[in-house]
Amino acid sequence: MDEKFAPHLEELTRALGDIENTGIRAEFEKLIAFRVPPDVAKESILRKFGGKRKVLKIKDLSANLKNFELTGRILDLGEKSIRPPEGGKEGPSRLYTGVLADETGSVLFSSWKELPGSIGDVINIKNAYTRIWQNRIRLSIGEQTLVSKVSDSALPPISELSGSQAKKLIEIGAADFSIDIVACVLQLSHREVLAKGRQSRVISGVLADETGRLPFTAWIELPGIDIGSIIRIEGAQVRMFRGMPSVNVLSSTKVSSVEPEDAAKLAFTFESAARDPVPIRIEKIGSRESMFDVAAAGNVVSVRPGSGIISRCPECGRVIQRGNCRVHGKVEGIRDMRIKAILDDGTGSMSVMFPRELAEIIYGKTLEEAEQLMFSDVSKDAVYEDLRRFLTGRYLAVRGNASKGEYGISFVAEKAWVPEDDLAVRVVELLRRLGPDEENGHDACSEISNGGINLA
Ligand SMILES: [Zn+2]
Repeated sequence: MDEKFAPHLEELTRALGDIENTGIRAEFEKLIAFRVPPDVAKESILRKFGGKRKVLKIKDLSANLKNFELTGRILDLGEKSIRPPEGGKEGPSRLYTGVLADETGSVLFSSWKELPGSIGDVINIKNAYTRIWQNRIRLSIGEQTLVSKVSDSALPPISELSGSQAKKLIEIGAADFSIDIVACVLQLSHREVLAKGRQSRVISGVLADETGRLPFTAWIELPGIDIGSIIRIEGAQVRMFRGMPSVNVLSSTKVSSVEPEDAAKLAFTFESAARDPVPIRIEKIGSRESMFDVAAAGNVVSVRPGSGIISRCPECGRVIQRGNCRVHGKVEGIRDMRIKAILDDGTGSMSVMFPRELAEIIYGKTLEEAEQLMFSDVSKDAVYEDLRRFLTGRYLAVRGNASKGEYGISFVAEKAWVPEDDLAVRVVELLRRLGPDEENGHDACSEISNGGINLA
């Protein structure tokens, strides 16, 4: 390349570091080849690669992140050829996939270009992005991503990184790949599923430790393990299902019983782990991507449209409009009842879905009674209006699964009840939140007696 470009290349090196191995020099040369003036080329490269870029660790990865930098060791690498789309002019392209790890975790990646390293090497990735692929976070290396090999990395060696990470259940998230846990089996059941055209027996259930609970699925037999067993699981995979992590026990996973003398040293017993979860603050639920089997309590601040009597497709269970299923067309709908309500406890709010069994309990009317109301009233919203009148302002406790989405926390209730006995506790709590000031305290009292959280 021409001598006259040297000052520009020097400036790029000063600003961006190694420009040879990161492909920045090649990028510069490409622009020059396209007859871009050298100073314009330099500026554009500085803008593209020099901007403030977040440097992340693997544990920080979440869905749909863009333009970050990450360094990791390649634990696994494979390639496959992808057939071009029908009618395309190009030949098959190569896709490189594998696992990248740092001291905080490991992540699946896919790259449309060949990497400057192989298994065991450390690579630095600039301008990467993440996607959700098959319910897992995947690090994507695209055209605009710069990848360079790091020869003197302080990252732990491959033997250390390839081991699973020991985790408590509450710490397990979408970015986890392979984990080691010690937990007790709270629920366990066998079922037959059709997997890859073959009937297989799978075990599914719920695990618990002192921090929380998670569902698990085992694709292998678990001899001697039953409800109440305290087990050590090594090398389980984390899969995401409906926004919730679940522990997958595969043939490569090691499962063993914890000896009673070791179990005695744990921070939980079967009895403590099996205890019903106590309500926690909604704020705390919102601080995590998802929480499995938790409880919360708060006031119903609104009942959402779509609550009340609905019709479902008999084939797929989808909610149908005017006897038409999106998938199955004209069908004879099955009546169902559900309630979607916003629950607020003063620290946060969440959208709670109550299926029929719970809707009937908290509404105090059965589906049949609600139907009678619907038929006896001219307004088609009679049930919805009645639900709003009845539920708004009520104090409820719920237990179920929470996941965070675009519109905040959505919670699917599996249990719901009116915690009548703790009214006094809540009054004290409310007074404390409103401050020690006597006048305020007085106001708060009258607010309560005015029925803000009346339990009638
Ligand atoms: Zn359908």
